Amino acid sequence: MTEMRLTPLQYMERVAAHFGTAPHAVFVSTFGCQQNEADSERLCGMAHAMGYADAATEEEADLILINTCAIREHAELKVLSYLGTLKALKEKKPALLVGVCGCMPAQGHRVEQLKKSYPYVSFTLDPASLDKLPEVICTLLEGGRRRFVTGEENPPIAEGLPCARRVRHKAWVSIMYGCNNFCSYCIVPYVRGRERSRASGDILREVETLVADGCHDITLLGQNVNSYRGDCDFAALMEKIACLPGDFRLRFMTSHPKDVSDRLISVMAEHGDKIAPHFHLPLQSGSNDILARMNRRYTRERYLTTVGKLRAAMPHIALSTDIIVGFPGETEEDFNATLQVIEHVEFDMIYSFLYSPRKGTPAATMEAQVDAAARAARMERLLAVQNDIALRLATPYVDRTVRVLADARGKQEGILAGRTDTNRLVYFAAPEEMIGQFAYVKITRAEPFALRGELINPK
Ligand code: SF4
Repeated sequence: MTEMRLTPLQYMERVAAHFGTAPHAVFVSTFGCQQNEADSERLCGMAHAMGYADAATEEEADLILINTCAIREHAELKVLSYLGTLKALKEKKPALLVGVCGCMPAQGHRVEQLKKSYPYVSFTLDPASLDKLPEVICTLLEGGRRRFVTGEENPPIAEGLPCARRVRHKAWVSIMYGCNNFCSYCIVPYVRGRERSRASGDILREVETLVADGCHDITLLGQNVNSYRGDCDFAALMEKIACLPGDFRLRFMTSHPKDVSDRLISVMAEHGDKIAPHFHLPLQSGSNDILARMNRRYTRERYLTTVGKLRAAMPHIALSTDIIVGFPGETEEDFNATLQVIEHVEFDMIYSFLYSPRKGTPAATMEAQVDAAARAARMERLLAVQNDIALRLATPYVDRTVRVLADARGKQEGILAGRTDTNRLVYFAAPEEMIGQFAYVKITRAEPFALRGELINPK
């Protein structure tokens, strides 16, 4: 153990000095959500600052970082199986460091399992301790023993850590961490702790730097962005960012329906030049009984009122949602209530999930678990309803010209994939050099989940 506590930046310098000019490489493997993607960019940024270059494969790496997800048991099993594949590598290369980071090692039973059954895991870091990466690497390189780090209950947010963004044209910016909501099916509050918000000045500086560096699509991230409480509320933060100069569009996720404020809706409407006309509002269920069992703390009526306000303020706003199918106690009547809301609202996109019990959450031990066949049948019905709606909403795009941020290569040669301001996926023929730029595309074909079109001009 290192006696004197240095800052993360000082530890990074110390590791870099330890390596000198000897080449070292890091491989980062990310499981789970956008928050984990964003966290991995920080882990990677810190590794670079310590002198690690990127390794193309695990075999080339001296440090393997696995950023894990605990949202479903299945996600954890995938990580454990991946870890199993690294055992032989560690035997071949004893100096290899393997770190398991993120939500999985925030659970005591998983840490015990990693300690006992995976002796080649060199260290763990829970989500609140990621800034300890340089310190842990430093102590291990200096001969220290395996480390299993769990953070304090409400640690201060470490600002100024380096970040290795995967692409230049779009970025996630975490504005807060943790969650206070305790939805009955969700493990997040147990593994990511209570809400902690960054100061608005730090967020603004980060956005300014991104925009100056050519970033055109910025998504503010938080488990429930509506409960952002830095030195202002979320609506005020959005307004401050939307007033920054530059050619960018602003998105956010995720928004809890119980906390959407009228002020946020008016800020979105007033700053339509910057704030994307898209709102992801997770419904989860259209049945008030099920919403109560989920501890969501809104009703279907309140949800529909919010949708009405959004549409009144921004008639062309795109709405997307999350639905859990087969939550414990969900009857045919409850499920039909969900379908009714879906048909009434007409979401552009639905992310639907079959309920699966998550150990450690209240819902996992609730009575009346819905059997797998009923869950699957309901999911099929939901998908059929949503397919029709998605196609119905996509069709009016034909012959319209839309602004698209070219994002990546499509599956076919010469075709790029991008997103409209409303977050619709668009495929169009264009040179690869256009990736990262806004383009205007005339839509020629509509499919439920993608549009196809022709490039009108590069800007
Ligand atoms: S709001 Fe609910 S679903 Fe979202 S992270 Fe918090 S507890 Fe989980």
